[in-house]
Amino acid sequence: MNKLGISDLDLRDRRVFMRVDFNVPLADGQITDDSRIQAALPSIRYVIEKDGKLVLASHLGRPKGKPDPKYSLKPVATRLGELLRTPVRFAPECVGPEVEQMVSVLLRGGVLLLENLRFHAEEEKNDPEFAKQLAKLCDVYVNDAFGAAHRAHASTAGIAAYVKQAAAGFLMQKEIESLTHALTSAEKPYVAIVGGAKISDKIELIESFLNIANSILIGGAMAYTFLRARGIATGKSLVERDKIDRAKDLLAKAAAKNVSLELPVDHVVAPSLESTNSHVTSVTDTPPDEMGLDIGPETIRGFSGIIRQAKTIVWNGPMGVFENPKFAEGTFAIARAVADSKAFSIVGGGDSAAAVAESGVASKITHISTGGGASLEFLSGQKLPGIEVLTDKGPVLRK
Ligand code: AMP
Repeated sequence: MNKLGISDLDLRDRRVFMRVDFNVPLADGQITDDSRIQAALPSIRYVIEKDGKLVLASHLGRPKGKPDPKYSLKPVATRLGELLRTPVRFAPECVGPEVEQMVSVLLRGGVLLLENLRFHAEEEKNDPEFAKQLAKLCDVYVNDAFGAAHRAHASTAGIAAYVKQAAAGFLMQKEIESLTHALTSAEKPYVAIVGGAKISDKIELIESFLNIANSILIGGAMAYTFLRARGIATGKSLVERDKIDRAKDLLAKAAAKNVSLELPVDHVVAPSLESTNSHVTSVTDTPPDEMGLDIGPETIRGFSGIIRQAKTIVWNGPMGVFENPKFAEGTFAIARAVADSKAFSIVGGGDSAAAVAESGVASKITHISTGGGASLEFLSGQKLPGIEVLTDKGPVLRK
């Protein structure tokens, strides 16, 4: 990586502003899943060990630019303190004199978590004055919030202009390294698996895979726009009519580039999501009053066979409405197939990552990305503002 990493920094006695992704799910003020906090622990522990003075900042939910106790990060400070077995102080604001005072009395190895950045509308507007106020709290800046790296906000992008050094945390580094490997130096056969609701969200991803993959396996609702592009009737299945021409274009490009773009051959259909009358049909026999909600057994077999041959696999998006157990088998079977393969495998996107975790095979995946939107944009070949603004590694470090 050509950007500064946290271990390139001299941290002793320094105030370290670390942007993390503590956007955890909460129910009645309780954290229901602390994996995002856990994911940031290596960088946090590193700063503590190196005698830095750590100031942590994150967003939580969508409080619409003003304080809302529902989205307070206070429960996160408590949980983080338990995980670190060290007290974590909590600042009731993220900028201003009170916070500056709290930062000024931080001891070496001390940790202070700031209140939700999005309690200020200036955060999402990437307001330079707000970014300057954040920068005032630190000597060096570390971004470990890969999940927010595709956003040009004050704490993820703007702040970097006002600090001497801006470096990637360990989580950010791991994401960049794994995703860069998948984009630039992956072994073939390269199999991309793309699913989910809408083709419109993932056209650029598919375009990017057309340049690097040998096979692209399409599942989920987006498969129906492709099936329509091939002239196949899809009943009541979700189709983006205004994207049928785009799907035709992608199919033609795949053929021209010799990339095999595989669509489902059979699927689980039902009159509605709530219906108990689900059954398997060939995609060419979809009843006009039914919709496809999961890939079928023949498709699972075909896709799994291709996955088995792969040396590199990248997967984004579920194969069906996996939230409903009746339509989850396709997604779980693909999760198992990816886990069983010896390939370098990357799973990105909240739904596919959840399916892998629920299948109990997460440990067999090379890299599970913590950022849905961010990994999608990275793999689509876009530059992420949160990465671009980090200090380039040069022969002379500005310490
Ligand atoms: P995305 O956020 O684009 O990855 O889409 C994820 C959503 O797509 C999940 O909530 C799935 O329930 C939904 N989905 C997957 N397959 C289908 C399908 N065949 N019909 C309707 N929704 C689907």
